[in-house]
Amino acid sequence: MKSFKEYYKDPMFRKKVLDYKNEKIECECGAITSRVNRYRHLKGKIHVNNMNRLEYCKCGEKIKRSQHADHCC
Ligand SMILES: [Zn+2]
Ligand SMILES: [Zn+2]
Repeated sequence: MKSFKEYYKDPMFRKKVLDYKNEKIECECGAITSRVNRYRHLKGKIHVNNMNRLEYCKCGEKIKRSQHADHCC
């Protein structure tokens, strides 16, 4: 078995890892973040502020206030 370090020498593998880490994901608060930054984002002010701005819809889903108009109910 190759070690992670050996794999990491492979540029293709390195690119894959980087792509994975930098892939954009949408946080539950509605902010777009990447996998590497997600942990920091979750601890940050932006996330907390965004979460405070969310509200529960009648259907039980947590949504942004601004989204309410296009939401199901
Ligand atoms: Zn967030
Ligand atoms: Zn709803």
